[in-house]
This record gives sequence, C-alpha cells and structure tokens, in this order.
Amino acid sequence: MLDYVSLEGDLDAEERLIRDTAREFVAEEVGDVGEHWLDGTFPTGVIEEMGELGFFAPNLDGYGLPNVSETAYGLLMQELEACDSGLRSMASVQGALVMYPIHAYGSDEQKDEWLPRLGTGDAVGCFGLTEPEHGSNPSAMETYAERDADGYRLTGSKTWITNAPIADVALVWARDRSAEGDPVRGFLVETDRDGVSTGEITDKLSLRVSVTGEVVLDDAFVPEANVLPGVEGMQGPLSCLTQARYGIAWGAVGAARDCFETAREYATDREQFGKPIAGFQLQQEKLAEMATQITLAQLLAHRLADLKEAGRLRAPQVSMAKRNNVAMAREQSRVAREMLGGNGITADYSPMRHMANMETVYTYEGTHDIHSLILGHDLTGIPAFE
Ligand SMILES: Cc1cc2nc3c(=O)[nH]c(=O)nc-3n(C[C@H](O)[C@H](O)[C@H](O)COP(=O)(O)OP(=O)(O)OC[C@H]3O[C@@H](n4cnc5c(N)ncnc54)[C@H](O)[C@@H]3O)c2cc1C
Repeated sequence: MLDYVSLEGDLDAEERLIRDTAREFVAEEVGDVGEHWLDGTFPTGVIEEMGELGFFAPNLDGYGLPNVSETAYGLLMQELEACDSGLRSMASVQGALVMYPIHAYGSDEQKDEWLPRLGTGDAVGCFGLTEPEHGSNPSAMETYAERDADGYRLTGSKTWITNAPIADVALVWARDRSAEGDPVRGFLVETDRDGVSTGEITDKLSLRVSVTGEVVLDDAFVPEANVLPGVEGMQGPLSCLTQARYGIAWGAVGAARDCFETAREYATDREQFGKPIAGFQLQQEKLAEMATQITLAQLLAHRLADLKEAGRLRAPQVSMAKRNNVAMAREQSRVAREMLGGNGITADYSPMRHMANMETVYTYEGTHDIHSLILGHDLTGIPAFE
C-alpha cells in the first residue's frame, strides 16, 4: 500500500493493529461492495460486527469505548473508506455525530442509555441537521420545539440524513421556541415515537452503499430527559461536524489510495502497443501525480491527529484538510478511472464508484465552497458567507 514517506514507522502497535483489523474486516466481511453499490444497499448485517470490533467512536473513553489514539481513529476511517465511503459514513455518523455529542453534552442517564448500545452496534443513530430549505446555512433551520407538560413537541423536517431509515434514535437539532432567543438544542428522538417518520431517499447516484433518508417530525413528543443538557446554540451541531470532518479528511485518503493501487496494478498488467501501459510516460506522470497528492493529504491527516491529540486542533484546520483531501480524492479517482479505460466505467473496479461517492463527500459536512469561506474567514478575519 502506498506509504511513500514511511509514515508506517511512526505508528505504534495498537495503531497498526486497528488499521490491520479494519483492512481485514473490509476484505473478509463486507462482501462484494460493488454489488452493494449497484443494488443501492448497505450491508446492515455487519453493523454489530463493526460494533464488536470497536469501530464506533473508538477515540472516546468510558462506557466500554476503547479510547484509542486519534491516529488510530483516523486509520480506521481511512481503511473503511478505502472500501467505500458509505461504510465510513455509517461509522462516522454513529461515532462522531451521535455518540460524540451524547458523550460531550449528554446527561449521565443519556450516556448510560445510549453509549453502550451505540458502541456495540446494538442501536443505530442518525444526525438530523440539514433541512429541505436549509443546507449550507443550518442556522436558518425551521424545525422547532415547544414545551408541553414535562417535555417538548417537535415539528419540522430534516432531509439527507445518513442512517435515518435504519436508526433507532435521531439526534435532531431544533430551535427551542419556548426559551428566550429560540436557541438551537439537541433532542434525542427515538424513531418509533408517534409523529416521527424516516422515509428513505432512493435513486441516489452517489454514496449508494449508505442508507439515506428524512426525519419528519409531526408534533412528536419527547420528554425533557431527551434534551442534551450540556449545549445550546449552533456550537452544538458545529462541534460535532468538526469531529466528523476530521474522520472524512482521513477517509478520503483511503478512497484515493484504493484508486491509486487499482490503477497501478491495472497499468502494470494491461498491455497495449506490445507493453504494459505503466511503461508509457503519460501513464507514469499520472501515477506520480496521484502518489504525490495522496502523500501530501496523508501528511496533513497525520498532522491533524497530532494536533487533536494535543488538544490544539482548530476547526478551520479541519476545514482545510476536509476541503483539500476530498478535492484530491475527487480528482484522483477520476484520473484512476481514466487509466482503466473502458473497464474503468464498470463496477468491477473501484475508481468510478469512489469517484461517484466523492460527489457526496465533497458536498456533505460543509461543501467545498463553504470550507473555502471558513478558511477565508480565518485567514482574513472577514466573514464572506452572506
Ligand atoms: C448522501 C448525503 C448524506 C448526507 N448526510 C447528512 C446527515 O447525516 N445529516 C445532515 O444533517 N445532513 C446530511 N447531508 C446534507 C449535507 O450536509 C448538505 O447536502 C450540504 O450541507 C449542502 O446543503 P444543500 O444540499 O442544501 O446545498 P445548498 O446549501 O443549497 O448549496 C448548493 C450550492 O450552493 C453553494 N453555496 C451555498 N451557500 C453558499 C455561499 N454562501 N457562498 C458560495 N456558495 C454557496 C454550495 O457550495 C453548493 O455548491 C447529506 C447529504 C448527502 C448528499
């Protein structure tokens, strides 16, 4: 596997073990991911196994969670996405977008109830922030909660929600109209409550190995005990997104690496004009550029891990890595596809599947444009969002 500047040497035994376990898991347990992509199905049978292997929020502590290093967590995301972005998305949502906020902002009862179940894959979670009319600007959300007796009634609709149709619990971000200033709060909504529906979005041409849906709330009641007590305002969802974007910055490297390895192998085997196409300068230039870009992205991901471990990671740094590494994977998956010629447009090879997936990864968790604006703001001090 491509490791051009010998980053492997910096890994400790636990980090290698987690990476190798994930690599083995995707090779042996996921089955034919190309078939899943064509069918538009997620291999739900592997969720509990992912839990048993500690793939959900392994960088958190307590509640049976392994508290591994941020590098180990990143390597895990990299291996899952080398298989398919859908697999990494399932784990990212469960870990970084559902378990992380419960861990960071939940009550003891919420932690006791949900973290062990989500950690083992016994329960599945989803994160409801995006709405039909509010994607890049979630602070304009219309979903609201109003106090009712000893709880809240929620009304509104969330869309493009990963895992929603298979989720037991949705973390829904909504404005609390009963409080001064309508602050955004996080509500843990069990999906079997009256007034909650989670229809599936079908016919996606990207991230097909992922279950995506809506969370529609029609006057749905949740008790007060289901509100995350530890956070108020957009800081709540945005802090979760920083965690998930960190995993994406690593994951995208995995997808690009898989494209590189596929293209390198294909070019070495495939002969035209009497020799392997890898022997032509034009193809070598593509491999050289691909390896260079992947290596630069790997270095950025590893540096983020060190900063995160030291508690010095800033959200705009994560934006830079998400923006760069996903754009890199989007571009390089296209080059890899090109190197495979006609065969490259089939599901027998991974590059076009990764290429299609990258359209989602480029768009969700803050579009490429939005990360440009976050960086622009950080670099100049001038917000240019509106
Ligand atoms: C498969 C999939 C899974 C997803 N999973 C989840 C999930 O689990 N939970 C969740 O809450 N959301 C999820 N999302 C939603 C995702 O986060 C949004 O699609 C994303 O934030 C963009 O919002 P939008 O689609 O409404 O696009 P819009 O915000 O309408 O943007 C459209 C275009 O306008 C550009 N644009 C917007 N504002 C500006 C600006 N100020 N300046 C310049 N350009 C701008 C954007 O970059 C984009 O190119 C998912 C999306 C997909 C496709």
